[in-house]
Amino acid sequence: MHLFNLKIIKKQYLALGMLVFVVLFLFNSKPAFQCQLTPDSSAYLPTIYGITPTYARLAQKADLTRLSQTLMLVKNFHWIVIEDSASKTKLVENLLKESNLKYTHLNVKTDKPKGSSNHGNGSTASGVEQRNMALDWLRGHLRSPEGTPGVVFFMDDDNTYALKIFDEMRKIKRVGVWPVGIVGGMRVEMPLVTDGKVSGYNAVWKPYRPFPIDMAGFAINATLFLDFPEAKFSRKVQSGFQESEILKYVVTQQELEPLAENCTKVYVWHTRTQKPSIISPKKLKKPLVPDNHIEV
Ligand code: UDP
Ligand code: MN
Repeated sequence: MHLFNLKIIKKQYLALGMLVFVVLFLFNSKPAFQCQLTPDSSAYLPTIYGITPTYARLAQKADLTRLSQTLMLVKNFHWIVIEDSASKTKLVENLLKESNLKYTHLNVKTDKPKGSSNHGNGSTASGVEQRNMALDWLRGHLRSPEGTPGVVFFMDDDNTYALKIFDEMRKIKRVGVWPVGIVGGMRVEMPLVTDGKVSGYNAVWKPYRPFPIDMAGFAINATLFLDFPEAKFSRKVQSGFQESEILKYVVTQQELEPLAENCTKVYVWHTRTQKPSIISPKKLKKPLVPDNHIEV
C-alpha cells in the first residue's frame, strides 16, 4: 500500500515535471513559433538604400545625429554616406560605428572651380560627385551575392523624414513620388494626381523643370540602376535640375507612382539648418577655457 502510493505520487510528479518542461519549451521558443505563424515581415521587406552626401561644418554632427537616430527606427535600411572630403573624418566614422546601422562609408571631394562657394546659395551643384560615387558602389553591390532588391532614396543630411515615408517607398515598382514640405518657396511642392497618375505639379520654382520635384520627393527601384548603367547626376546642369537629370534616365511622367495617399500627405520636409554664428574668442574680454579638444 505504502509503496503503491509512492508510485502514484512519483507518476504525478513526473507528469507535472513534463508539463513544466513543455510550457518552458513553448515559452522559450516563442519567437520561432511566431516566425512560422506570421512570417517575420522584415525578411520580405525591400531594402532601402539611403544615399547621403555630407560635408564638414559646425552643425554637421547635430544634423547627422538627428538623421541617424531616425534611421535606427527603419527596418532593412542601408545607409550610404559619402563625405565631401579628401579623406574620411573620425567624426563621421565614429558616428556611423556607434549608430548600429548597416552602412557604407565613402568619400570624394567636390572639385570646386576657384573662387566659388556653393554652401547655402544652391547656385552650383552640391553632392553630385558624392551621389554618383554611391551609385557606382551600389551597382557593384547589387551585382554581388550580398546585394538585395530594394529602393534608392537620396537623403540630404539636414532634411526631416517621417517614418511613414519609408513604408511608402517599399511599394515602389519603378519610381515613386510624393509631396515635400517647405521647399521651392512653397508650403508644399507636390505632384498633382488624376485617376491615380501624375498629371502635373504644384511648383513655382523653375516650374519648367522636366520633373519639378525635390531630391527628397522620390525614390527609385534599385534594379533600374543596373538596367540603366549610364544613369547619373551631372555637374553640367543648372541648379534645380539634378532631380530631372537622374529621373530622365529611368522614368517618364506617365510611369511615376504617386504615393503618400495620392500625394496628399507630407512625410518629408526640406528643412535647412541655419548656419550658426559663433563669437570669436578674440573678441571676449575674459579668455575662455579652451574647448578645441571637444567634438561638437
Ligand atoms: N553637400 C555636400 N557638399 C557641399 C554642400 C552640400 O556634400 O559642398 C551635401 C549636404 O551635406 C547635403 C546635400 O549635399 O546632404 C545637399 O546640400 P544642402 O543641404 O546644403 O542643400 P540645400 O538644403 O541648399 O538644398
Ligand atoms: Mn539641405
